[in-house]
Amino acid sequence: MADKKLEKGQLSIHTENIFPIIKKWLYSEHDIFSRELISNAVDALHKRKVVDKDVKEDDLRIEIKIDKKNKTIQFIDYGIGMTHEEVEKYINQIAFSSAEDFIEKYKDKQQNIIGHFGLGFYSSFMVADKVTIDTLSYKENSEPALWECDGTTDYSLGNGKRKESGTTVTLYINKDSEMYLDYSKMRELIEKYSNFTPFPIELEKKVINQKEALWHRKPKDVTEEEYKEFYKEVFHDYIDPMFWIHLNVDFPFNLKGILYFPQFRNQMEMQKGEIKLYCNNVFVADNLREFVPEFLMTLRGGIDIPDIPLNVSRSFLQQDENVRKISKYIIKKVADYLKDLFKEDRKKFEEYWENLHHFVKFGLLTEESFYEAAKDILMYKSISGDYLTLEEYKQKFQKLQDNVTKDTKDSSGDAKKELKVYYTVDKDTQATYIKLLRDSGKEVIISDNIIDTHLFQHLEMKKGDISFVRIDSELDETMVEQEKQELVDADNKSELDHLKETFENALDNKNIKVDVKRLKNKDIPTLIVFQEGMRRMQEIQSFMKNTDKETDFLMYHDLIVNADNPLIKKILKLKAKGKNDQVNLLCKYLHNLSMLEQKKLSGDKFKDFIASTHKLLELV
Ligand code: ADP
Repeated sequence: MADKKLEKGQLSIHTENIFPIIKKWLYSEHDIFSRELISNAVDALHKRKVVDKDVKEDDLRIEIKIDKKNKTIQFIDYGIGMTHEEVEKYINQIAFSSAEDFIEKYKDKQQNIIGHFGLGFYSSFMVADKVTIDTLSYKENSEPALWECDGTTDYSLGNGKRKESGTTVTLYINKDSEMYLDYSKMRELIEKYSNFTPFPIELEKKVINQKEALWHRKPKDVTEEEYKEFYKEVFHDYIDPMFWIHLNVDFPFNLKGILYFPQFRNQMEMQKGEIKLYCNNVFVADNLREFVPEFLMTLRGGIDIPDIPLNVSRSFLQQDENVRKISKYIIKKVADYLKDLFKEDRKKFEEYWENLHHFVKFGLLTEESFYEAAKDILMYKSISGDYLTLEEYKQKFQKLQDNVTKDTKDSSGDAKKELKVYYTVDKDTQATYIKLLRDSGKEVIISDNIIDTHLFQHLEMKKGDISFVRIDSELDETMVEQEKQELVDADNKSELDHLKETFENALDNKNIKVDVKRLKNKDIPTLIVFQEGMRRMQEIQSFMKNTDKETDFLMYHDLIVNADNPLIKKILKLKAKGKNDQVNLLCKYLHNLSMLEQKKLSGDKFKDFIASTHKLLELV
């Protein structure tokens, strides 16, 4: 074997020296060097598989070796390798000028590029002062070549030492990048970017990557166990997902993926959703809103889109017709899956609902196309424990409301019945109201998160013939005795007017509206009603946490006084006897009791309440 002379040369610069830019630039993206070097190794292995029929399966692998003492990382493959001439052509010319092109094009737009593909082999200079390539071509009678470059435009090309076909790239890690000499850091990079590389990647002799992305298989060829195992390994979860959707299309775009619906144990875990985007098995980015709308971000999964436009800005993606189609397709698939589940296995769907409802509600609120497709599967749990869709609530309870609810006209001028959906946010503090309403044959649904306030508003607007009423925000007419004759007192005032005046004088507060009724349930003396609008304002305010100048919207409320309650009757009798102090004490006391039932007494108000309790006890 004749030794080749050591060549020295200069990389021909076309615009400006790119090395300092590579080193400084893309600071937060330095990680990608491993992806680029592994991708090159994968290409070389693929090519070897095609051209060299005798290649051993065992050789089709990538090794990564860290030498902490000498501060080097080696990427070793057994691919086709390169001849001297090929190194000259591919590394010195083609790779260098494409790196130049890339930098020229994107140096000002670094933040906006998706995935940062295209810098290629020269990205190794982000983390290394010096890089060597020792390579032997698979072609017969080839000589190994050694290329060396120390991060200037000078390089040398001479004899290498490789004995087996393939390439060893050695990075002499620079001072700022020593964290990559850490085993766990390298492992993390391999898992993140190259998890689904179709050849084994060994780090210090241990295979790190997953190898096969399950979404590339046909759904019918994957068992339930395989789906679950894959989920647990990739997302480091130990609990099975609830279910999953396998996406598999070839036309009009090529997309493979799996979306998993995890079982969340708490609110915090919902933030941990993660949808990874790949291009031909190489990781591109996490949670790209342009492809996967925000409400789906609580799911976990992976999507591989080989034709994804890489190296484009985010704003370009937002306008790209194909990207929009992909996003629509994903939304539709999710909605269809949920609708099918709802139709085919209602029991299962209900079991999942506690885990699903945040996500479905968020989708209904934020994605018009999801709203259209999935609005009918929205359900709420009722006090009796059943799950009801709004349509089911209507079927069951609208009849009861027909004689009392107002007719509204729809756009065609036809009269439409407005459906009132009664809801509670707290079964315990609202127990009195719940009982009252259910005694009249109605049902109350349970609303239990902030998103419902927004969703109710949204549904009212969209549907136009429905309103959501918190059970303590108005008195349903069916709870009230209608026909009973009013008594008239000596001053020719009705008993109801008399009571109203008595309470108003005692409370002496313009923000409280006193309303005297005859409730069917005689056990309740007084009730507080917070108007729906005021309460929603309060909720929005506390949601925005503008604590500086917080308005207590709930100081405006109605006090319902039940004329048929024995205690209320007693107040009238005391009044007739002129015992005004006792009357005032009792009126205030009952108001406070009702506020207390709503947990709306605190601080000074609670202290006053205790004091008046003492006074009241003195009377006994
Ligand atoms: P790209 O991979 O996008 O073509 P690179 O700059 O990463 O750009 O690499 C340039 C070329 O160098 C590759 O196309 C390939 O021909 C050659 N090359 C790089 N790494 C290897 C390798 N490990 N084995 C064989 N050839 C390689």
